Amino acid sequence: MTLPSLFLSHGAPTLPLTDAPARTFLSQLGATLERPRAILVISAHWETAQPTVSAVERNETIHDFGGFPRALYDMRYPAPGSPAVAARVAELLGAAGLACKTDRSRGLDHGAWVPLLLMIPQANIPVLQLSVQPHLGPEHHLRVGRALAPLRQEGVLIIGSGSFTHDLSEFRGHGPNDPAPAWVNSFADWMDNALTTGKTAELLDYRRQAPFATKNHPTEEHLLPLYAALGAAGEGGQAERLHASSTYSVLRMDVYAFHAPGELVQHDRPAVPAVA
Ligand code: ZN
Repeated sequence: MTLPSLFLSHGAPTLPLTDAPARTFLSQLGATLERPRAILVISAHWETAQPTVSAVERNETIHDFGGFPRALYDMRYPAPGSPAVAARVAELLGAAGLACKTDRSRGLDHGAWVPLLLMIPQANIPVLQLSVQPHLGPEHHLRVGRALAPLRQEGVLIIGSGSFTHDLSEFRGHGPNDPAPAWVNSFADWMDNALTTGKTAELLDYRRQAPFATKNHPTEEHLLPLYAALGAAGEGGQAERLHASSTYSVLRMDVYAFHAPGELVQHDRPAVPAVA
């Protein structure tokens, strides 16, 4: 079984409570995927100096946010962990010259559990996380993804979880279904073109080349998981946009699958709705 890797935009923590196109999409996505043996989430919400993988028997749910409705704090995603897959992650990264630490207590942050709650509400597939290193930029995360590519043949679903656009200074005052402004959409269009036409060098240089790049990503941590997911498809991996929408005006909620060159798309994929 060879699984695609995925990049998901996880949006605001309130996504499970919000009627929005991205919630509908993620709620349907799980059923379209082959059941993986385990899920490895590279989340924007776990930043460390060097790659670190979580290895627990059972995941705690981390409510790593403040000021949201009570119902959100009552949500749990008690998926098992997988110390065995964590050891394999550390082994693959180490073999690529990327020393990886193991964290034996950390559970799942909302970058992992919010989309997984929608995709696989049963919480019955082992989940582990890998941290991001924002100071090391896109190329490092592409390398991390490439090192992990063998996991896809081993039945592990690799998910990068971040946000396609993420300028939180413009977030307040908007409703969940407010349309995106041009400076958000022009960045997303540039990224989509570069991804779907395989322009890896341009993608690595997106901060200089893409329109409004530093406006949409004042810091990089929410885009870096995309590079890990892209890398996991291997050199020449092909990007496929599965979903595009926006929420709170400035958060694009786009979702991509990445396939190794020549790998057939094995599933009927939901149509991409118009950008809301
Ligand atoms: Zn986030």
